[in-house]
Amino acid sequence: AIASRCFENAPGLWRDQLPSPDVDTHKYRRGHAAVFSGGATATGAARLSAMAAARSGAGAVTVLSPGEALAANAAHLTSIMLSRCDHGQDLADFIEARQPTAFVIGPGFGIGEKTRTLALDLLDKASGHFVFDADTITSFKDKPDMLLAATRRLPEVRLVLTPHEGEFKRLFPDLDAEAMPSKLERARAAAARANAIIIYKGADTVIAAPDGRAVINSNGTPLLATAGSGDVLAGLNAGLMAQGMAPFAAACAAVHIHGAAAHALGLGLIAEDLPRAAGSVLASLMETAEE
Ligand code: AMP
Ligand code: MG
Repeated sequence: AIASRCFENAPGLWRDQLPSPDVDTHKYRRGHAAVFSGGATATGAARLSAMAAARSGAGAVTVLSPGEALAANAAHLTSIMLSRCDHGQDLADFIEARQPTAFVIGPGFGIGEKTRTLALDLLDKASGHFVFDADTITSFKDKPDMLLAATRRLPEVRLVLTPHEGEFKRLFPDLDAEAMPSKLERARAAAARANAIIIYKGADTVIAAPDGRAVINSNGTPLLATAGSGDVLAGLNAGLMAQGMAPFAAACAAVHIHGAAAHALGLGLIAEDLPRAAGSVLASLMETAEE
């Protein structure tokens, strides 16, 4: 019955699941999100994700940066931690020492075999939750089964995929608008096939789960059609999951908060503005929840 229904995205669906810190918590108990940075000329996207994860309330956020980009990242990070990681090297040590609870990989990361290998390695070896966005999705173009085989091995849903229209086509080329006119049904089919939450982005973002749950979001605004805004969404989603929010609820919340932040900012917004505004949206959602 759940599978046949579809809801309008509204805080009532997930507000009571938003993470709220215990009085005696400490920063590593408030979730630790790790975001992979691209090389020296492509570091901004990861920092946008990292800032968004931090503003979502995660107690600790680390940017994992290749050596060549450490200086660029260090110059622009304050509350966010920085750790060296060259395409997955030393990752096992970092994970063991710092126990991240969620990962973002894709924004600005670069496309190719190294990205595929690292993403598949994470799915196999890391615990916690994952957001695969942007270049990670594109890296599986023409090889979606490599990814789907790995995600189907996961006993639970631990991955959120955040494709825009073009990225969706790369992972699910047969689920096109001709074969399946409804975006909602395309998202549902993709989620079931991938054993992952799908945030199928656009003016009418659809969030779907493998068990058939689906939500249509309508607080989007064309102001979000700006470079970096998707990276912020990925970070919000990971930050909420890092704090223990279930992936489907976190995805719905992240998409709503993203849209509300854009409305609050209005014309002239750039992606850098979104994380702080998202934090304010989250704060007011929590106030309403406590009333
Ligand atoms: P990306 O393409 O990865 O940068 O992500 C863009 C973000 O902006 C996604 O969250 C989209 O859903 C959102 N977005 C892009 N264009 C629009 C639009 N015309 N109306 C509402 N949201 C949009
Ligand atoms: Mg993007």
